[in-house]
Amino acid sequence: MQEKGTISIHTENIFPIIKKFLYSDNEIFLRELVSNAVDATQKAKRLSSLGQFSGDLGDLRVEVAFDEKEKTITISDRGIGMTAEEVKKYINQIAFSGASEFLEKYEKAKDAGEIIGKFGLGFYSAFMVAGLVEIETLSYQEGAEPVHWECDGSTSFEIKKGKRTERGTDIILHINEDAKEFLDRYRLQVILDKYCKFLPVPVKFGTKSLQEPDGEDEEGKPKYKQVESDNIINNTSPAWTRKPADLKDEDYLEFYRELYPMSPDPLFWIHLNVDYPFNLTGILYFPQVKNELEFQRNKIKLFSRQVFITDEVKDIVPDFLMLLHGIIDSPDIPLNVSRSFLQADSSVKKINSYISKKVADKLSELFKNDRKGYEEKWKDIGLFVKYGMITDEKFYEKAKEFGLLTNVKGEHFTLEEYREKAAGLQTDKDGNLVYLYSSDPAVQDTYIQSAAKKGYDVLLLDSPVDNHFVSQLEQKLEKTSLKRVDSDVADKLIPKEEATETLLSEEQVKGVKEVFARAVDKPDMTVEVESLSPGDAPVTVTVDEFTQRMKEMAKTGGMS
Ligand code: ADP
Ligand code: MG
Repeated sequence: MQEKGTISIHTENIFPIIKKFLYSDNEIFLRELVSNAVDATQKAKRLSSLGQFSGDLGDLRVEVAFDEKEKTITISDRGIGMTAEEVKKYINQIAFSGASEFLEKYEKAKDAGEIIGKFGLGFYSAFMVAGLVEIETLSYQEGAEPVHWECDGSTSFEIKKGKRTERGTDIILHINEDAKEFLDRYRLQVILDKYCKFLPVPVKFGTKSLQEPDGEDEEGKPKYKQVESDNIINNTSPAWTRKPADLKDEDYLEFYRELYPMSPDPLFWIHLNVDYPFNLTGILYFPQVKNELEFQRNKIKLFSRQVFITDEVKDIVPDFLMLLHGIIDSPDIPLNVSRSFLQADSSVKKINSYISKKVADKLSELFKNDRKGYEEKWKDIGLFVKYGMITDEKFYEKAKEFGLLTNVKGEHFTLEEYREKAAGLQTDKDGNLVYLYSSDPAVQDTYIQSAAKKGYDVLLLDSPVDNHFVSQLEQKLEKTSLKRVDSDVADKLIPKEEATETLLSEEQVKGVKEVFARAVDKPDMTVEVESLSPGDAPVTVTVDEFTQRMKEMAKTGGMS
């Protein structure tokens, strides 16, 4: 048997284009070929369990090997293999037409950065690093003949009788000069770790030496011997693929440590699991963030059937949840399309709101079942919740039940509880509620003391999102404004008890005011003289609330 033919693709010179476009990401060839090997293996398992073929399944491991001298990388599996007909159909037609379709989309998207994941390029991606690709394969079907296929990167291929004696497939890549960086153990290990770490079939890459106990020496001390054992690079049943009922807290924590070895343990987590109307599994962890907003972002990894795709999950995960850690696995997220398409995609939209709802439900449950524990974690959780309340209307509606306000004394209140507390206590002359807050208690201590003396409560709003949170609350809460404790409004409120007896005469007050106003000499500041009792700060200089808030916003900048 020998046959030559032409691969039917539209663009004659598709290879140079592929290389040019994808060069920076060419390491994904390994992900594509290993996941094909895994797919073929899973199919073999399935067929066997259905009784579709008899005989031994054998050792189902996938193996990645390389030969520096021969300049080859070989990916082998004991999957279902392919007949000559199947090679022609699946490799020549499907794989290659998939690639040209991909290129069309890719060219439309123009900017290389627009493409997410580059998934779906499939078998064809072998040509990003190899000038010549060989396939040796033997189908599981009875009486099948081994097949050898090769293609040198032009549009012509050759098929002949192959050498394989066992069911399965070897893909042999003859690595190009400009891709010889991949003929390196360390480099390959890093790529396998990145993409293949959680594949469902064991993947062997070389061997590693282990120390094993080897009896005792004459003095009775334990002896060890070096043994070579297979280096299996993956964990075939990562926590997110298992049933929540089968997992203990320790399992979730262990998986977290596997993902982020350097991070402190997370506060809690949510196991995502949905089949309809889209398929999605995953675990989202709430990390300890301690008021730090920036460096924690982009820690969520996106997988598709246990293959790592990308850690660019913007658009799939609601923006405010970008601070979470963990993984999302969904075969339903279209991956080889542009961002603008992704934003408009209906299953992506559904996934986005599903995640948002799950997170809200979890927080609500924690709050209801263990308010004390929830309050203890508020310093970390608060950042997400406030951020979500600011940026996501639907989330606000849920979070207003469990979003907390904390005062400078460290007491926590729901929005409703705080409203009750402030009612009748902190009202301005128009009858509106005024919440006082401090963004820097150390600096504003005098003002806090003075407010406390009048019986006012002062909120602590000092996180990176609080400037925006304050504005959001003002929009949402009825007849309520928030004022900094050192603002010029703070001391014009009507306190609980009318106790405004002053030690100074009106004349004296006017005099002192003038002196301070001249000394301060800032038009946006107001001087107030108050001396309710001898212990009070007699004079306070306040700043117009609006001016101050604008200054702070300018300082913290935008949020996205
Ligand atoms: P996809 O994996 O998305 O189907 P690919 O281009 O990666 O697309 O592969 C095309 C087809 O070639 C596969 O669907 C499969 O039928 C066949 N194939 C590729 N690699 C193997 C393999 N190792 N064993 C058996 N069949 C394979
Ligand atoms: Mg594939």
